[in-house]
Amino acid sequence: MRCLSEGELRAFIDVQGDDQAAAEAHLAACPACRAAADELRGNAELAAAAVAALRPARLPAAAETEAARGRLGAALLPSPAGRQQEQNRPPAAAARSRRRSSSSTSPRSPR
Ligand SMILES: [Zn+2]
Repeated sequence: MRCLSEGELRAFIDVQGDDQAAAEAHLAACPACRAAADELRGNAELAAAAVAALRPARLPAAAETEAARGRLGAALLPSPAGRQQEQNRPPAAAARSRRRSSSSTSPRSPR
């Protein structure tokens, strides 16, 4: 068997290769592919460790999520009147104004 491409090595490591047995046999006989596979495995372990470090120790309780949503809503919509206006707007008018604002601005403008 020829040497494995990086994609084939990744597939083998993820146990999703088309021919796991052939890839394993090649790795047993080919130090270059074995080294490449070891490096990819190391990368995968680093990525898993990084993701694990970012994961919160526990998920917030439903009440905490609600409280945070309330704080966020208060920060984004300071007055209840503003929120009501937005809700009472007919969807067609809202879509029209969105279209108008996106087409009338220059491409360099952030909006
Ligand atoms: Zn090889």
